[in-house]
Amino acid sequence: MKLFGGIEAGGTKFVCLVGNGPDQLVEEKRFPTTTPDETIAQVVSFFSPYANRGELAAVGIASFGPVDLNPSSKTYGYITTTPKPGWAQVDLCGRIKNALNVPVAFDTDVYAAAFGEQYWTPENKSLDPFLYMTVGTGIGVGVIANGSPLHGLVHPETGHFAIPHDFQKDPFPGICPYHGDCLEGLASGPAIEKRWGQRAETLPDTHPAWELEAEYIALAVVNLIYAYSPMRIVIGGGVPAHPGLHISIHQQVRQLINGYVNSPMVLEKIDSYIIPPTLGTRSGVLGAIAMAINEHGNA
Ligand code: ZN
Repeated sequence: MKLFGGIEAGGTKFVCLVGNGPDQLVEEKRFPTTTPDETIAQVVSFFSPYANRGELAAVGIASFGPVDLNPSSKTYGYITTTPKPGWAQVDLCGRIKNALNVPVAFDTDVYAAAFGEQYWTPENKSLDPFLYMTVGTGIGVGVIANGSPLHGLVHPETGHFAIPHDFQKDPFPGICPYHGDCLEGLASGPAIEKRWGQRAETLPDTHPAWELEAEYIALAVVNLIYAYSPMRIVIGGGVPAHPGLHISIHQQVRQLINGYVNSPMVLEKIDSYIIPPTLGTRSGVLGAIAMAINEHGNA
């Protein structure tokens, strides 16, 4: 049996999975993200037995970024300008590919999650453009347009949207090392923790943090709707898993759009338009496997 590998390379952990899809998981392991040398060595040793036995057909890598996705670039497959210490200008794709000697598919963690949610979920299959937004340690959005990952100059970075920030209501300056109070700087998990002095998951349902959070995410979502005209938006990551947040986002998105986007998806069916991930916390790693199958499944 041909097996595929998925790697979700995150700023805090690497999730590695061998299998053929959501219902055929063979082995899964998580490694903390320490130094590139140490973490990449752990990833390689996890997959090596499968590669050495000739069972591993290909590997997909879903990476935190920014990353270089231009196949004709000398630094294709590199993590580029990350503030994560030690990880800037690391050839993540090349080092894994050379060590395992199998074909590799490579993209951003959020594109992979979008692809996974579409590939493995029949109801999402024909929806295009299709967006996946994650709100957790960071904020990112993966875009599928015309059946392909939307890359362009680099790749969409709408996690760093400039959104309205009312300093009277929310004096918190934001934590993005590049922009301060961009979307990620105001609404990521670490921003919530810094603003309120406690971790998001420990904040009670009635805490004002949640209304503010829904407002920031909703501001980003309406910009995504205006820019990409998506057929569906999946919002995943640790923060939106909070009970009730999705419903609050729906309400605020409808208020902000105020009837302007004349579609029943926004006006009447918003709960099936902006949805949580079908694959739970595995959208990225299962998306990486889907990318490997899609690009190299017949190799
Ligand atoms: Zn930013």
